[in-house]
Amino acid sequence: MSSITLQHLVKKYDDGFPAVNDISIDIEDGEFIILVGPSGCGKSTLLRMIVGLEDITEGDLLIGGERVNEKAPRERNLAMVFQSYALYPHLTVYENIAFPMRLTKGQFTKEQIDEKVRHAATMLELTEHLERKPANLSGGQRQRVAMGRAIVREADAFLFDEPLSNLDAKLRGQMRAEIARLQRELNTTSVYVTHDQTEAMTLGDRVAVLKKGLLQQIASPRELYEQPANLFVAGFIGSPSMNFLPGTVEGNIFSTPLGKIEIPDRAAKAGAGREIVLAGIRPEFFDDASQLGEAQLSKGTTFTAEISHSEWMGNEQYAYVSYETDERVQETLRNLAEEMDADELRTQLVVEVDATSRFRSGDTA
Ligand code: ATP
Repeated sequence: MSSITLQHLVKKYDDGFPAVNDISIDIEDGEFIILVGPSGCGKSTLLRMIVGLEDITEGDLLIGGERVNEKAPRERNLAMVFQSYALYPHLTVYENIAFPMRLTKGQFTKEQIDEKVRHAATMLELTEHLERKPANLSGGQRQRVAMGRAIVREADAFLFDEPLSNLDAKLRGQMRAEIARLQRELNTTSVYVTHDQTEAMTLGDRVAVLKKGLLQQIASPRELYEQPANLFVAGFIGSPSMNFLPGTVEGNIFSTPLGKIEIPDRAAKAGAGREIVLAGIRPEFFDDASQLGEAQLSKGTTFTAEISHSEWMGNEQYAYVSYETDERVQETLRNLAEEMDADELRTQLVVEVDATSRFRSGDTA
């Protein structure tokens, strides 16, 4: 096991544009780090730089405190798990898992190899499939074989490049839990690239959010969710996304297209003197007023608005509420959308209410 330190890493491809732009992260021994961000943000490039598949243009990469910029991938003792599994089709599951140990030519005895392969197979529940070929396995089983190969190598760290993106939703969920369990059991330093919100929020000790090659924030999933460092992180983390409701602040009153909201001193201070202020409101911070008692209603602000569309999800319900704004606000929203790398910031709120709420499209609630 090992720590991994990224110091001011830069990657420029031939076009000179920095795909990774001055990224520094200290990954502790045994830590599970997720790299997340929209397509093209540089997360795969960063992972490939760590494993040695991509040259480092500037900066230093340290593994276990030692600078490894010039070391070949095989000298770095890292195990990479790809989404394509990269299994050998002509070899059995047993031989696929044993492969990295056989490559070391004589470092392991036959008995040692057998013991390690069987141990990994037990951990991964692959024992009964050891004699099969990859073609006769399900996607999830193939993924586990790929994990088995990483385990027997006793690598200093595991690097995962979107390992679950070829699996269907149910299997993804199972494998996600499996990877979390294995990482805890083995306590191996892991770096995991994904664009999947759920994987990012459930697997990582810390999540690094990237945008256009730049690190936006690195923090625990909870901190990212509750204290996003900027608008991009606020909008990127969470599904459905955080709502941004525009308005103006005067004293402790925030006037929005949907009505006035009383805001605490801290928010009033932050918004004072600004022309247009955006309030970040998560969908779950809304409730269906018709289902609340007097005491709860008095703690919040009640809006009446038309539900333009509603999605019933079984355990909850999302209602879409549109509102009108003037051109000046819309221009601000367009500029912010650009800053956030989003297509647009809609003049719409997504409201999460209880599945039992009778919110229907066209209703006023
Ligand atoms: P995705 O989720 O789509 O895989 P990503 O966040 O992993 O995206 P990268 O694949 O790291 O992004 O790419 C980052 C940027 O570098 C992109 O703009 C991409 O076009 C560019 N890029 C990646 N590989 C190369 C290459 N071999 N040559 C030139 N540019 C590249």
